[in-house]
Amino acid sequence: MQALKERRHLYPDRFVPAHNLQQSRLPVLQQNMARRRLVLFPLPLQGHQTPMLQLATILYSKGFEISIIHTYFNSPNPANYPHFAFHSLPDNLTESETSTEDLTLLLHKLNRNCAAPFRDRLARVMEDASVACLITDVIWYFTQAVADTLDLSRIVLRTNNPSSFMAFTYLPQFRDKGYLSAQGTQLEEPVPELPPLKVKDIPRNYTRHPELNDAMANMLMETSKASKGLIFNTLQELEGSSLSLVRQHFNIPVFAIGPFQKQVKASSSSLLAEDQSCIPWLNSLPPKSVLYVSFGSIAAIDQTQFNEIAWGLALSIQSFLWVIRPGLVRGLDGSVPLPDGFIEMVMDRSRIVEWAPQEEVLGHPAICGFWTHCGWNSVLESICQGVPMICLPFFGDQMNNARYVTDVWRVGLRFEHDSNRQDIEKGIRRLMVETEGKEMRKRAIILKDQASLCVAKGGSSYQALESLVAHILSF
Ligand code: UDP
Repeated sequence: MQALKERRHLYPDRFVPAHNLQQSRLPVLQQNMARRRLVLFPLPLQGHQTPMLQLATILYSKGFEISIIHTYFNSPNPANYPHFAFHSLPDNLTESETSTEDLTLLLHKLNRNCAAPFRDRLARVMEDASVACLITDVIWYFTQAVADTLDLSRIVLRTNNPSSFMAFTYLPQFRDKGYLSAQGTQLEEPVPELPPLKVKDIPRNYTRHPELNDAMANMLMETSKASKGLIFNTLQELEGSSLSLVRQHFNIPVFAIGPFQKQVKASSSSLLAEDQSCIPWLNSLPPKSVLYVSFGSIAAIDQTQFNEIAWGLALSIQSFLWVIRPGLVRGLDGSVPLPDGFIEMVMDRSRIVEWAPQEEVLGHPAICGFWTHCGWNSVLESICQGVPMICLPFFGDQMNNARYVTDVWRVGLRFEHDSNRQDIEKGIRRLMVETEGKEMRKRAIILKDQASLCVAKGGSSYQALESLVAHILSF
């Protein structure tokens, strides 16, 4: 994605001596684990890096020392994490190779290019400190072999949810059954292997290299199975049955310790500058009156769809805050031309920003609904704030997530990519003003309460986190 590419920056290695740590954060449990170091390796995409840094913060609060190894591309800002040691890694990607247009290719190149430098970097960290374990994004599949060579335990973080992870395990089978090339009405057929998914919900990425997709899916499944554990940013109450399936399939310890959003703030890991000007505007508006519209950090649309969305928002007569990220409209890196007459129609009831402080926005009393692409972080952030959703999924796990939002948790409705301005207008009004939307909001509040309870003492995620800490200490 262009905007993220431009913000590629490199921070020097940073090491914080152990004596600078706040001793007060250390729980009783840590008597025998003092100064045990964890090395975390986030994937350099917003939706992956944020949860990995949140996980690092959670584990730091449990008394571990944290080292982050990161690529030059989309490197995190160490100033936001003064207690962590940061180690940068040359990814050998050219500027054009960091485009997220063909995600499969980007992920393949990252794994290929980082293998040798990562091994050296990790070995150097291990020379300097006693490392308890390596925690990487599932997608860094090459790291299992590195961990094996260095005789280090590896745990993986899956930043998407367990139901979509299961769907990924079936990809080669689904391809053989013809699901991935399904067209027209076939897309509405149920997938008997994974209810309640329909064929159109099966994860897929646009790529010019489809042969890489299955190979990568296989590699990340095999290397996940070979790891010492699997962490999910979710909660048992939301995804109990999918978690059971994952446990059966992978046969390694699985820890559902989310939502991270209830335990740590995400904003410090934002790769784009957050435009705070929308907050005073929201402050001036009545409760439950604004639709927040954002399609995350990668999804892109064409100008025709952009115009239909704009006119749908205008015709709905609802207030809205719309994130128009550079790169949202394919082929346009700079500002996106709005349709003629649009601004005049909406100027007294809208704000447009390039990047919002999303969690703060979703938690604002003026927000009534969230029109989202259904990236897993966005869905969880919405659930954590009890905000019902309009789902417009694009790729990867987003269709799976949308199915759960609309059919399982029943806290949202779905748009299709061919929805025109009238469909959009009607959908927005269903969510914002009709009884259907109010019912969704009630169910969303119940989920929000569950999300708060599960991380409180004795809750399911609280207990899973205790188990994770004990598991790491057993290595
Ligand atoms: N986000 C944000 N401001 C925005 C849009 C998105 O801070 O204007 C954050 C959002 O809070 C979430 C992340 O970017 O944490 C997007 O992750 P997600 O998994 O939802 O989608 P992705 O970008 O990976 O498709």
